[in-house]
Amino acid sequence: MTQTSVKAVKSILSRSQLPGSDWAANPYLGCSHACLYCYARFMQRFSEHSGPWGSFIEVKDWPELDPLKERPRLAGKSILIGSVTDPYLPEEAEFKRTRTLLKQLLAIAQPEGLLSDSGLLPAPDLLSDESGFSLTLITKSDLVKRDLDLLTQFSQVRVVFSINTVDETLKEQLDAAPSIARRLSALKACHDAGLTTACFIAPIMPGLTDVAAVIHAVRPYCHEIWLDSLNLHPSCKEPVLHYIATQQPHLKPLYHAIYEEHDLSFWRELDRYLRQIAAACNLPYCTDFAEVKPCEVKPALVNFSAPS
Ligand code: SF4
Repeated sequence: MTQTSVKAVKSILSRSQLPGSDWAANPYLGCSHACLYCYARFMQRFSEHSGPWGSFIEVKDWPELDPLKERPRLAGKSILIGSVTDPYLPEEAEFKRTRTLLKQLLAIAQPEGLLSDSGLLPAPDLLSDESGFSLTLITKSDLVKRDLDLLTQFSQVRVVFSINTVDETLKEQLDAAPSIARRLSALKACHDAGLTTACFIAPIMPGLTDVAAVIHAVRPYCHEIWLDSLNLHPSCKEPVLHYIATQQPHLKPLYHAIYEEHDLSFWRELDRYLRQIAAACNLPYCTDFAEVKPCEVKPALVNFSAPS
């Protein structure tokens, strides 16, 4: 049972240091998906809760975004929703903070004077990209389907599904988020609704994540497939290494080599393997967002785990 409380915050938007995003928005503090490998555990120091990561969330209550003030500030910028939580936690079904945020951002994205009483604009063809911001949401949940009515009204929006295995048994050991089957179904729904979609294969768990199987499963419904390595941040190192030692002991030497001896050969080999897959499937391949070029062929493989 997740402990839930409401937290008043000064703003829902904060400057982002993450590549490819200028602003970050996290409607919740904490995350009930409780992923074993979660690097966002460090956020707990900003919380009043002392229980284990995943046992609590704080529901953020922020002053409504002012379109007149935000439109120039966000023009040409990128906003990432869900950098240290999932915007579609189960609790979102009740609290609707992500849906509220989307409505506020839609009011900024839309020309003034065209909003209906509900805050929604019924005619998408009347929308202009006046503010010019782009929106990216990262989720592990099919609850995102609830908001397709809003998401399809943004001119620059990308929904990213975090999937690092197609093995439901392994998934159950790694996170408490919706099943892979539900994520794949939601990915397809977003794709079929005309949204730009991506799959984030992250973190790649050495010896556990079958990247080819995930690529095969998501490929028909994605414009991009991102891949990133498991980063053993100090806050998640202990639970991950405990899991490997107790549940996957045959992988202990590999994890020791990668995370204690800093041996990069696993990631170099993975880079070679992914290049082979890309070549065989005639897919674009790169190791940096800056190299991604608009093209007809999709999905592009963007491998952030490749050693430089
Ligand atoms: S969904 Fe993301 S933020 Fe939430 S627990 Fe998992 S890794 Fe952490």
